[in-house]
Amino acid sequence: MTFTNIERITPVIGFMQAYSHTISTLKKCSRCKYVSYCNKSCQFVQLVSQIIQKQRRYPPCTHDDEDYFPTTVDQLESHLKYARKDNIESLLCELQQLFEEDVLPEPSSLLNMYGAINCNGFSILDNDLNGIAPGIYLRASMVNHSCDPNCQVISDGRKLQLRTVKDVTEGEECTISYVDLMDPTKERQAELEKRYHFTCKCVKCIKEINPDDGLGELELRDLHWTKVLQLCAPYLKLDSSNNLLANYYLLVRLRQEAIKVCVHIQAWDKYVEMGQLNIESLRYHYGPYSAMLGLHLLDMGNKLLEMGRLREARKYLTEAKSVLEITHGPQHSFMMTPYVQKLLDL
Ligand SMILES: [Zn+2]
Ligand SMILES: [Zn+2]
Repeated sequence: MTFTNIERITPVIGFMQAYSHTISTLKKCSRCKYVSYCNKSCQFVQLVSQIIQKQRRYPPCTHDDEDYFPTTVDQLESHLKYARKDNIESLLCELQQLFEEDVLPEPSSLLNMYGAINCNGFSILDNDLNGIAPGIYLRASMVNHSCDPNCQVISDGRKLQLRTVKDVTEGEECTISYVDLMDPTKERQAELEKRYHFTCKCVKCIKEINPDDGLGELELRDLHWTKVLQLCAPYLKLDSSNNLLANYYLLVRLRQEAIKVCVHIQAWDKYVEMGQLNIESLRYHYGPYSAMLGLHLLDMGNKLLEMGRLREARKYLTEAKSVLEITHGPQHSFMMTPYVQKLLDL
């Protein structure tokens, strides 16, 4: 799908408030002794604790359209039959240590909550797209998956915004991706089966499983790493013309790692070169409007500016602006920070 005019894209279509609230009646975590996260399972216990407290404190919110939307976590799909028994038992055990008996919901209700979080949880991300905590957003949980989605979610603090990244006509279903779109079809499908218990039959999956170019997915993953490096070497240069291999997902990730190394050793020329190579790859995998691409362009522009390469910097910053206005929107707190505003108005 191509756009002739960015204005045609519908802006924000919803705000959702996360289940997360100031901890007051919560005892300290039995494992780390702090009311903060120590690891994934601790985060999980924390989230359940917050939901329990929030549901005690506030009655379920009601909207005119409540027939369509769940109002409590118990109402979400839980796929309980797939849940692992040992995980559930350790969760119940931890919760019993955190809460007084009369506060803790029935075990059956906790089980539903456990399942619901597993298959409806969102990652709350910081502005660099690093996951900071799991969150449950009742309304956003209703959005179905597509490997070629027309919407994306973006965290803004604890709030989650659902934003359209393609033209959406009235009545058309809004979709987001539950998995990393850079993963090849087989991996996406395996992840969707494992965590959400369905087989994706979207257009992209069907097409990639039966590719018309006869090439299919390259199985570089099964090769020894020295062989991978040897194969990839020509494509780590700027002038590579083979787009198929240049966008190969492991190579793109290899470059992302190389970029981090460049920051570490302050090799800025290499940083910019590697970063420029990945721009088209990110566009290829995540589409023309993704937070990943927007932030990457902003980083490139910023670094080029510091290096005094003004003309190139302007090009990337202009592009960053057009992407971020769709993925974040001008009202996002990140877009309002003086640092970002200064760059985007250059
Ligand atoms: Zn802990
Ligand atoms: Zn799919």
